[in-house]
Amino acid sequence: MNTFSLLIDGMKVEGQGKPFAVLNPATREVAALCPAASLAQLDQAVDSARAAFREWQYCPDEQRSALINAIADTLEQHSEELAMLIVTEQGKPMDLARFELGGAIAWTRATAAMVLEDEVLEDSDAKRVTMHYKPLGVVGSITPWNWPLMIAIWHIIPALKTGNTLVCKPSELTPLSTMRMVELISPLLPHGVINLVCGGAELGAAMAGHVGINKLAFTGSIPTGQAIMRTAARDLKRLTLELGGNDAGIVLADADVSEIAMGIFQGAFINMGQTCAALKRLYVHESLHDALIAKLVELAESQVVGNGMKPGVTFGPIQNQKQFERICALVDDAKARGATVHCGGTPLQGPGYFYPPTLVSGLTQGSPLVDEEQFGPVLPIIRYRDLDDAIAQANANVCGLGGSVWGKDPQQLAATANRLQCGTVWFNSHAQVAPNAPFGGCKLSGIGVAFGIEGLKEFVQPQVIHTFK
Ligand code: NAD
Repeated sequence: MNTFSLLIDGMKVEGQGKPFAVLNPATREVAALCPAASLAQLDQAVDSARAAFREWQYCPDEQRSALINAIADTLEQHSEELAMLIVTEQGKPMDLARFELGGAIAWTRATAAMVLEDEVLEDSDAKRVTMHYKPLGVVGSITPWNWPLMIAIWHIIPALKTGNTLVCKPSELTPLSTMRMVELISPLLPHGVINLVCGGAELGAAMAGHVGINKLAFTGSIPTGQAIMRTAARDLKRLTLELGGNDAGIVLADADVSEIAMGIFQGAFINMGQTCAALKRLYVHESLHDALIAKLVELAESQVVGNGMKPGVTFGPIQNQKQFERICALVDDAKARGATVHCGGTPLQGPGYFYPPTLVSGLTQGSPLVDEEQFGPVLPIIRYRDLDDAIAQANANVCGLGGSVWGKDPQQLAATANRLQCGTVWFNSHAQVAPNAPFGGCKLSGIGVAFGIEGLKEFVQPQVIHTFK
């Protein structure tokens, strides 16, 4: 079994808290014991990041970009090892873990190449007014368990690029790949620029309240985001909150079922549905409802469910027991309401948290599977007749992360997108993010954006300079 350590001021250190077990969700065996940081160790990590910030903030942008590209090279060299850790702790099939690594590397390089230019706001006879961007200081990164390594990179790289230093806390359910990644990249950076502590809610809450942390980048659930915001209000800590979603997809009457079925299946079931911007409710015009379900059932039944380490497996387990029980309960509730389960619908035998891809129809607004974020391998399909009604139902939700429209007529696609209340809309696709396109939610799906120049701006403070002529 590998041994894992915290990382404080460039040194691997043992945790002073009680180590905790990280389970492999395919076997429920202990994959590793994870060290837990004490609150005193959190203080040390913050002190180390504060000390490193004094110089790192002035490191020239080209030098920071070169170091970030070196991070990408290191991730590339260790990608198989890191992908295996992701499969072990998270459960996804190996090819998807490789995709996660590929995404992390691509994001790292793309962010290294971005430049946050100074802006000239006025250049008149009387004066010149310019705006430039200054790093915030120490960034705390708190990440979830679904795409553990890629989301950590989404926090770490823009923070470094803009001259901040970091204290990272991965999810206690999937800390291993992030720990190893930070251990690998830390030697490329000055001591203290990146630190890592491990623990659960208590440690995360301590980060939210820590006066030495200037900004928190948080990706996770809505209630945790709300708790962080309450605590962070004390020192008006800057926040980016990337929270839950309940993305609606709307299939227009002119869509071609055989052309869209695969995209819908992938959008809904990527990472076994455990993706913030997965397609979580599908509204289908009544003329296509039955035909589309038939195609989706074919795709669902062609999946090979099993341990992500095994060659040929395309569909892994749910990551943890709580989420597994939630999916079982949501489907049981749907059945009790008289819904039709077209495929899947019961957990598979075995020690792991296996639940096959499940398609459910016959539910309406007011059912938990429609109203709440399921975050797992079950998709409710809702028949509609009137597009206005479908749009109203799509918008009648506390979340507003992503949405999609499926069809042919560009004008109707655009008009429908314009009426959806969400941060991103895809046409004939879903859940495809890109390093140059700002991504974030409205309503309870969060505050702020990740990616692109707008994403970099989340890690800086503008400073305006007036020069009188
Ligand atoms: P979670 O909120 O339970 O945990 C996320 C992280 O927060 C973990 O590291 C956890 O230890 C920490 N934490 C828990 N309680 C805390 C507290 N009181 N204060 C500070 N930190 C605390 O979320 P999860 O179950 O790990 O992740 C699933 C959720 O994340 C889903 O709702 C999903 O939609 C969302 N998510 C959103 C995005 C996005 O970009 N919008 C991306 C991925 C996941």
